Amino acid sequence: MVNHMPSRRLDFKALRASADFSKVLASYGIALVKDGSNPSQHKALCPFHDDQKPSLKVNTEKNIYHCFVCDAGGNILEFVMAMDGIAIREAARKVAELSGSTIDRQAPPPPAAPETPGTVPDDLPTENQALSFALKLEQDPELSAWLSSRGIEAPAIERFGLGRVSARSKTIGGRLAIPLHDEAGQLIGYCGRYVGDIVPDDVPKYLMPKRFRKELAVFNLHRYRANPPPHRFAVLVESFLSVIRHDGHLSALSTMGRSISPEQIALLRETGITRILVVFDGDEPGRAGARAVSAELAPHFWTRIVDLPEGVKPHHLAWDAFRPFLADAWQTRSSTN
Ligand SMILES: [Zn+2]
Repeated sequence: MVNHMPSRRLDFKALRASADFSKVLASYGIALVKDGSNPSQHKALCPFHDDQKPSLKVNTEKNIYHCFVCDAGGNILEFVMAMDGIAIREAARKVAELSGSTIDRQAPPPPAAPETPGTVPDDLPTENQALSFALKLEQDPELSAWLSSRGIEAPAIERFGLGRVSARSKTIGGRLAIPLHDEAGQLIGYCGRYVGDIVPDDVPKYLMPKRFRKELAVFNLHRYRANPPPHRFAVLVESFLSVIRHDGHLSALSTMGRSISPEQIALLRETGITRILVVFDGDEPGRAGARAVSAELAPHFWTRIVDLPEGVKPHHLAWDAFRPFLADAWQTRSSTN
C-alpha cells in the first residue's frame, strides 16, 4: 500500500503547479500538438494504450492529462508514477529535475480517494461490446510474486494476458487486470482484481467494467470452445483465479460469481457441454451458491456438486490435491444418474 507518511515532506502541490509537462512528455519521446484555441490545451499519442491517433488530452497549465479512449488520467506526478511504476516521491524528484523546479518541504499529499465501482446505469446494453483498444499491461515483481503464491506462473499469465494497468488513476490502476472475452474471443473488457490476500473492508475485491453485463458472458468459454475436451464436460468455479490456476489441467469456466443466468446456460448448451461439475469455494456462500446454480443446471446437464473442505478454494489447491475431489464427484455418475 502507499505510504502516506513520508519521512521528509515534499511540496507536491507546488511542484504540480510549477512543473513543465511538455518537457516531461518529451523525455518519453511524446510530442504535443495544439488542440483547439486554448493555448494550454494539447493532445498527444496516449502511451497507456495502443493509440493510433492522438487520444491523450494534456492541459499544460493545470498539468493534467486524460485519455478519452482508455480513460487513463491524472496529474503530472501520476503520469510519471504510471509510466515508470515508481512512488510519488521518486516521481516528484524526476519531474522537478526535468522541469528545473525545486521541491520544498510542506504538507504530505492527501490520501488517494478510495476507488468505488461505477454505478449501474438503467439503460444497460443488450450485449457486451467489443473494445476498440487493448490496455497496455505490465508485469512487476510484486504482481508476479503474488500470482506465484496463488500457483499462477508465467505460462498462465501469458495465456490469460494478465498484467497490471500502468495508469494509476485509471479505475483499475494498480490492480491485476484480467482480460474478459465473449464466447467468440472478442475482448469485451477488463476486470480489476485487488492484488493482495487481505482485501480491506472499504475496497472492492473486483472492479468490473462500468457497463459490463457479466450475466451475458462465461469466463474462459472462448478457450474452451477453441479446444473442447473429448467428453464435453466442464468444471464451473466461482472465481477467475480458480479458472486460471488449473487451466493447464482442466477445462474450467466461471460465471464470475455464485449465480448463473439463462443467457449463460444457453451459452454452455450452445457449446455442446453435457456434464458439469460445480466446484465453488468451501464456505457457506459457496455451498449455497453451488446448490442454487446446480438446480439451474440440472434440467440441462449432468450436474454434480463438489464440496471442498471449509475455507478451501479451488485455487488454493495444487492440481494433485484438487484432482481427487473431482474424481470422487465423477464417480458418483453411475450411482445417481
Ligand atoms: Zn489511452
